[in-house]
Amino acid sequence: MKKKVAKLTLVSALSISSIVAYTATTSPAYAQTSLNELNEEKSNIENKQNDVKSKLNDSSNKLSDIHSEQESVETEIQRLNTSISSTQVKITEKKEQISTTKEEVEKLEKQIKEVTARIEKRNELLKERARSYQQTGGMVNYLDVLMGSQSFSDFIDRVGAVATIVEADQSIIKEQEADKKLLEQSQAELKSKLNSLETMLADLETLKSKLDSEKKEKDTLMAQLNEEENHVHAEMLSLEEEEQLLKDQQVAMEKAIQLEKERQAELARKAAEAEKQRKEAEAKAAAERAAAQKASSSKSSSSNTATSTSSSSGNSSQSESKPSTSVSSGNFTRPAGAGYLSSGLGHRWGTFHAGVDIAATGTVPIYAAADGVVIRSYNSSSYGQVVFISHYIDGQQYTTVYAHMRDGSRLVNSGDAVSKGQRIGTMGNTGDSTGQHLHFELHKGPWNQAKSNAINPVGIVPL
Ligand SMILES: [Zn+2]
Repeated sequence: MKKKVAKLTLVSALSISSIVAYTATTSPAYAQTSLNELNEEKSNIENKQNDVKSKLNDSSNKLSDIHSEQESVETEIQRLNTSISSTQVKITEKKEQISTTKEEVEKLEKQIKEVTARIEKRNELLKERARSYQQTGGMVNYLDVLMGSQSFSDFIDRVGAVATIVEADQSIIKEQEADKKLLEQSQAELKSKLNSLETMLADLETLKSKLDSEKKEKDTLMAQLNEEENHVHAEMLSLEEEEQLLKDQQVAMEKAIQLEKERQAELARKAAEAEKQRKEAEAKAAAERAAAQKASSSKSSSSNTATSTSSSSGNSSQSESKPSTSVSSGNFTRPAGAGYLSSGLGHRWGTFHAGVDIAATGTVPIYAAADGVVIRSYNSSSYGQVVFISHYIDGQQYTTVYAHMRDGSRLVNSGDAVSKGQRIGTMGNTGDSTGQHLHFELHKGPWNQAKSNAINPVGIVPL
């Protein structure tokens, strides 16, 4: 009994439109309203069709802007690449120079050591001579030499020889010291050359890392431009596609409205039927009660026959088909079986992303977000395998778009009535798409090329 009352309250709360719909078949005034409504929608759509060409132009302009930006970034990247490789060549050169300079420095070091050793040896020799000169008390040794002379001329020769020996020793030492000085000088020069080479190398390496990071930035920018280009492509339909879509949308929209009105009428009819049955049951029960009372007053024995009507409660709207278990209870259910929001709705890179991207890997089913009628189900060069659905919910028209589905996965055709949560395909990567994802659009009202009716599904459609 409680259940039945709740249902009736629900039905009456379903808005006035259901009552209106119930009387639709018999009320010419309503039919007129409906016709006006549809005509208005039709002329709206015709106006939008007139806009199509200019909107397509806008998109083309956007694309050519992106293309020229891509070209300039590409030029910049090439310039950076050239700078980087020439810097690299210079770095290699400097490294080679540094290593040969180091070798030279080492070579000089060795020579200096040799000369130093020779000087020391000679000094040692001279010292020894001086020592022996002192030990023998002055010129003794030389005197021995001199005294041993056979003649005066021999004496002269011997004096000369002694002097020459002494002089020769001294000049050799002088020469060697000059050599050593020269070597030390060139070593100092080489060391300062080495220092400046190392400074240059450090500068070059700083330059290169700057160029590298600049190039990295440009590469990132290029990747973003490419992504943007894909999205502009993804949002552009050819003129023929556009025209066909608008035409089919008109038909699907009318059918969706009709189906919703029929559904509401059916609900109202069932409610009326239930009400009629309830009244009949009540009347019957009242009659039975009266009869029972009459019987009990006359017989006053058994009183078990009364009050047995409440058991046969509502089976009227029980047959409403409930789709699969994961379907949300609101007006909309989630369109993708799995995935995360990889890109939201909004302006980016000078273009408008009119939908949301839901990315996932593997086989991910795509569902109709609400009851509706398929506008078009086809393969678009931009949207890839795509389904457009028209919905009519609480007197408001909505349009949903499901793009980039897997080849051969579409399960519905243009004109099909679909129910909320019904599988319509599989997530894919067709059309202008980089990586498997669902591009999902929600429009409050009909779809148009400018996507002026696109709204953010976040918070409305479970994602
Ligand atoms: Zn997208």
